[in-house]
Amino acid sequence: MEKIEHLGIAVKNLAEAEKTYAAMLGVAPYKREAVETEGVITSFFKVGETKIELLEATSPESAIAKFIEKRGEGLHHIAYDVKDIRSEMKRLKEAGFIFTRDEPFRGADNKLVCFVHPKSVDGVLTELCQEIQ
Ligand code: ZN
Repeated sequence: MEKIEHLGIAVKNLAEAEKTYAAMLGVAPYKREAVETEGVITSFFKVGETKIELLEATSPESAIAKFIEKRGEGLHHIAYDVKDIRSEMKRLKEAGFIFTRDEPFRGADNKLVCFVHPKSVDGVLTELCQEIQ
């Protein structure tokens, strides 16, 4: 794993959360992007080499809506940058980690992503992401 690529934060209202984060970080979000397959709209801020990804649900079926219902707004996942997502998945599966899906899929911000189930990582949903070349 190369570095923490971003922190994902579940929010109820993206526009309000963008204002909060813009005020706190002193920069505007650099992009907004919907990931329709996941039922979310995202907004990204840069903080040095790391990013903050705000996530708002666009459907009550989305994982973000369910997360907020259960646990409220807040830190949703930690994402690690990897060079080769498939080999990292293989390594982690061999070490006993459970993934939410067997294959990586296209996430926001031009990334191939996958998620390690929070049960495997002491309660923290963990994303691996690889830049799509
Ligand atoms: Zn993420």
